[in-house]
Amino acid sequence: MSAQAVIDSLEFARTGQQMHGEVRVGQLTRLTDSLFDTGGTLKFTLAGGGDAERRPRLSLKVEGEINLRCQRCLGSLVYPVAVESNLLVLTGEAGGETAEIGDLDGVPAGPHIEVWALVEDEVLLAIPIAPRHPEGQCSAAVKTTQDDSAASAFAVLAKLKQN
Ligand SMILES: [Zn+2]
Repeated sequence: MSAQAVIDSLEFARTGQQMHGEVRVGQLTRLTDSLFDTGGTLKFTLAGGGDAERRPRLSLKVEGEINLRCQRCLGSLVYPVAVESNLLVLTGEAGGETAEIGDLDGVPAGPHIEVWALVEDEVLLAIPIAPRHPEGQCSAAVKTTQDDSAASAFAVLAKLKQN
């Protein structure tokens, strides 16, 4: 399945279609700021259907690994992505629709919805705002320098006192 897959979201949901595919992390340009590099691919499964109230839904599952940039050491942080979400296809017919969907995510109804953009949305929601390696596994790139200079200044002072 092509990574540039485009679906008619409403049709896809109403006819219960399914799609599997892969998206290269490099394609997800809105992720770039959080990434250490653009290596890797994400696998997705998209399935159409309806909910109990017969509203069109898309079920989207995204799995894979991305390399985030650790906000402490600025190094590579492998982050496993495993998201599954139910998206309500927003037909725009009802004015109060937004209020009804509550905590559900929505997808606009349209004939040219890019699947990788949906994947990108899910990943953006899933990743931490300030990703970091676990405490103690790395040291701050910038802060360490400051600590060092503070420490050496202290050492100089200590030496001066000894003299
Ligand atoms: Zn780190």
